[in-house]
Amino acid sequence: MPALGGHAVVMGAGMAGLLTARALAESYENVTVVERDRPTAPEQERRGVPQGKHAHLLLARGKQVLEQMFPGITDELVANGAASFPVLERFRSQLVGREVRRGHVGEFVSMTRPFLEGHIRRRVEARGGVTLLDGHDVVGLAVRGDRVTGVRVNDGAGERVLDADLVVDAMGRGARSPAWLAQLGHPAPPTDELHVDIGYASRLVRAPEDALGADKGMLIGPKPGLSRAMAMFKVEGDSRWLLTLVGYAGHPPTDEEGFMEFARTVVPDETFAVLKESEPLSEIRRFRFPTSRRRRYEKLRSFPGGLLVAGDAICSFNPIYGQGMSVAALQAAALRRTLMDGEHDLARRYFRAVARVVAPVWRLAVQADLAIPEIQAPRPLSFRITDAYIRRVQRAVSLDEAAASRFFRVTSLVEPPGSLLRPSMAWRALRPRRSAAEAVRP
Ligand SMILES: Cc1cc2nc3c(=O)[nH]c(=O)nc-3n(C[C@H](O)[C@H](O)[C@H](O)COP(=O)(O)OP(=O)(O)OC[C@H]3O[C@@H](n4cnc5c(N)ncnc54)[C@H](O)[C@@H]3O)c2cc1C
Repeated sequence: MPALGGHAVVMGAGMAGLLTARALAESYENVTVVERDRPTAPEQERRGVPQGKHAHLLLARGKQVLEQMFPGITDELVANGAASFPVLERFRSQLVGREVRRGHVGEFVSMTRPFLEGHIRRRVEARGGVTLLDGHDVVGLAVRGDRVTGVRVNDGAGERVLDADLVVDAMGRGARSPAWLAQLGHPAPPTDELHVDIGYASRLVRAPEDALGADKGMLIGPKPGLSRAMAMFKVEGDSRWLLTLVGYAGHPPTDEEGFMEFARTVVPDETFAVLKESEPLSEIRRFRFPTSRRRRYEKLRSFPGGLLVAGDAICSFNPIYGQGMSVAALQAAALRRTLMDGEHDLARRYFRAVARVVAPVWRLAVQADLAIPEIQAPRPLSFRITDAYIRRVQRAVSLDEAAASRFFRVTSLVEPPGSLLRPSMAWRALRPRRSAAEAVRP
């Protein structure tokens, strides 16, 4: 691919920043990733990514894109200790109170977020032309006229400017691009928001390898009358499991007794017994996620040259669906494709490409969110019609392996949501059934 410019700077070395750097490295001679944290080891939990202490599922689509960007990464993760197991075969999943039918839809790789990010970081660093500049706080942009020409950074000893042909804001939910746009005289992007008020509490535990029998993962979603969820996954390291409890409106407590009492309401009895015997390997850590937010940069008519935005800084989804890292990977792939056609009109073409990636995922998440009674928001007619159909699909998913596989591929972003409307699926969802298996678990 032709070199478009000499130097690109990515602000933030989270998943989006690292993957963006990987995409830019094909078109820019040098890429610098500026990160405020100063991790002492690549796989370390760190302050700038507090969500990294909680369950982070890598969806099948995200895994595919990572494998394209970093050939062999899946094998490397598994060789270094990530758990790998066939989804829906060795993975117990409950949807609105019903067990999802078992089947085979591919391998799932399970690990903590710092472990995954550490591996991606090493791969990005190993690629020539990319420099990771840790311990540097981005304090502002350097601007000439209506063009961003660099980034102002502070390493604690003083401020300096990194000149750049292109700057990408990947600083997560707190990214400052909307404020910077205002300073430059541009309107802020229109923003879609949904107040979800979801709370996480997580702990690493040591439990036997067969803590879940033959299963290596368990996901229990909210059900009628109980808007709580849990995830328990085998992660890297001997007998290490990550337990995450989730609550809408009423959040899981972080004191020992409250945490276990909350767990008792959502974890199956046999697993709760295992948890009571397990050895805590970490404190109980919490995260509160008030609002899903989608910034519609593609709708702006004016945008400064030399600046792009990526990752959670564009869209941060309700984390319960595990979409963020996969969407960050898809955005980076979209950036790579956009750069293949040169820098002309780059921001407009990039934000449009990103909107095509984000829109179906956002709709999927919002549709599921609005089915949660605690979420206070208007339910339009379109939601109610789709919801009635989705409830039939969810019932089919508990009874029928083909329906379960397709539903799983859609929620893993491998197939578009529209494939749930295909005749083979509609037939499974809509045909009348009478079976004890249809009963929602109490
Ligand atoms: C509780 C929770 C659970 C989640 N679970 C999942 C899941 O199961 N699966 C999934 O795919 N996604 C999940 N996500 C979403 C996922 O974490 C993000 O979508 C994804 O990591 C992309 O984030 P990012 O790189 O855009 O931002 P971040 O990960 O927030 O990274 C931003 C980076 O910018 C740096 N930074 C910030 N300010 C500055 C500054 N001034 N100067 C320099 N550096 C700066 C930060 O230190 C950080 O390294 C979850 C999110 C939450 C909150």
